[in-house]
Amino acid sequence: MHLESTYKALRSCAILLSGVEVMSGEEHQYCPICLAEVTPSQRYPRYLCGNCDRRATDENGRSLVFSNESFSGGFIAKYADTGEAREGHVCFIDGVECWADEARFGGIVIRPVGGSVPRRA
Ligand SMILES: [Zn+2]
Repeated sequence: MHLESTYKALRSCAILLSGVEVMSGEEHQYCPICLAEVTPSQRYPRYLCGNCDRRATDENGRSLVFSNESFSGGFIAKYADTGEAREGHVCFIDGVECWADEARFGGIVIRPVGGSVPRRA
C-alpha cells in the first residue's frame, strides 16, 4: 500500500516534468509563406523557411540574397544577378512584403511585415 502511493507520487511528478518538456521542446512552428515546418523559435515565431528565404526578391521581382557583413554579424542585401548592394531590409516572397535582418545569433532571418499572414505557431 505504501509503495503504491509512493509510485503514484513519482508518476505524477514524471507526468508534470514531461508536460513541461512538451511545452518547450515539441511545439510546432510553420513557415508563414509555404507552411513548411521549421525549427520552433520563441524569438522568431514567424520566420521564413530556407526555401522561401531563397526566393526573396525586390519590389520588381529581382532576386535578392542576404548575408552577414562579417562573422560578428551585420546585414547586407545584394542583387543575386549583379551583386550590386541594395539598401534597406524590405523584400518580397510570393508577393508578401517581408523584412530581412540579421539574426541574433548569426545568419539571416526573414519575417513577413504586418499581420496579413496567419500565424500558425
Ligand atoms: Zn517557406
